[in-house]
Amino acid sequence: MTELRPETRTVHLPQPPLNGSRPIAVPLYQTSGFVFDDPAVFADGMNRPDGAFVYGRLSNPTVRALEEAVAGLEGGAGAVATGSGMGAINAVFLGLLQPGDHLIAQKALYGGTAAVINDLVARFGMEVTYVPEDDPEALRAAVRPSTKLVYLETIANPVTQVADLPGMCAAAREAGLVSVVDNTFASPVLCRPIEHGADVVVHSTTKYLSGHADVLGGIAVFADDGLYRKVWKFSTHLGATADPFAAWLTLRGIQTLPLRMERHCANARELAVRLDAHPAVAAVHWPGLPTHPSYALAAKLLPDFGGVFSFDLVGGRAAGERFMSSVRLALLAPSLGGVETLIMQPSTTSHKSLTAEELVRHGIEEGTVRVAVGIEHVEDLWADFAQALA
Ligand SMILES: *Cc1c(COP(=O)(O)O)cnc(C)c1O
Repeated sequence: MTELRPETRTVHLPQPPLNGSRPIAVPLYQTSGFVFDDPAVFADGMNRPDGAFVYGRLSNPTVRALEEAVAGLEGGAGAVATGSGMGAINAVFLGLLQPGDHLIAQKALYGGTAAVINDLVARFGMEVTYVPEDDPEALRAAVRPSTKLVYLETIANPVTQVADLPGMCAAAREAGLVSVVDNTFASPVLCRPIEHGADVVVHSTTKYLSGHADVLGGIAVFADDGLYRKVWKFSTHLGATADPFAAWLTLRGIQTLPLRMERHCANARELAVRLDAHPAVAAVHWPGLPTHPSYALAAKLLPDFGGVFSFDLVGGRAAGERFMSSVRLALLAPSLGGVETLIMQPSTTSHKSLTAEELVRHGIEEGTVRVAVGIEHVEDLWADFAQALA
């Protein structure tokens, strides 16, 4: 070939080979697609998750590194990373359910998940029965011929009920149902639902896994290879794909996940205990407190109790609002799992659309304040909370 002209050279950039070394960190493959020498390898990669990388909506090496990391942490056969937690939840629902199917879900659900289920019911003729998260008998009683799936959350928002994963997943298995567990609040450091019988684990990796409030992402992990391939195939059409840069940031977060979880849990314990003893506080909801209804179950299931708790102030809604506007260090913000401590009032924000009856179902009071504890020094956090309570 003749000497290439600048217009061509600038398009076809060199890619030097690594010649005997490799990067310490997982490289960011910021490319939408891949180049082939062999057309047969190209064709094969289109059809399965473990063929050659072809196109970013199907798979990408950085995204695959994240999928393998989380599948490994959760003890799954495979994982599908998505652009957000809701992307993973929708990929699982839409990939596994048909119009007319019945599903069983626990009563207290993440707001976005509750909205998706309402939508499946309204638009696709699906049916749902809500049961307590710790009542396998109620689950058994709810099973119908059309039931396909059971949906649970390891630790629910915002009053932190803990699901009886062994009991509920066993009941689901007996009835031939797929059990799906949202493990976002626990992270695989505190709980690996597949070890307790779950078929699918979903995460909003936006939270603890990435850990720095700088990225959105989700992932679905599958105990079974067949289920994994089925949802992978569907997800390639859904288009809720993870972006490589988001996956790369999440991988960096995961490297410090156990260290961060240790501090989140320790800080939550200290604040929960001190708030519980404070005269302005009516109740603290953290599963590590013996007064929490889930305490016995949580103590059996989890090595520690997570970094999210909520509390009710004696003065109800007005006192909650005063607390929210009096903190100086804690930030008024949604989400959780990052290094900064975030607070919010569920009844006026995340759960605003709920009726009074639904609020009761979730165990939320009008004045409930939810705290997603960060990794700051606990005495600085307590000083902030104490002055806000005063
Ligand atoms: C945040 C969250 C989700 C949704 O995840 P996104 O990343 O915001 O789409 C689902 N489940 C739980 C428990 C969450 O906290």
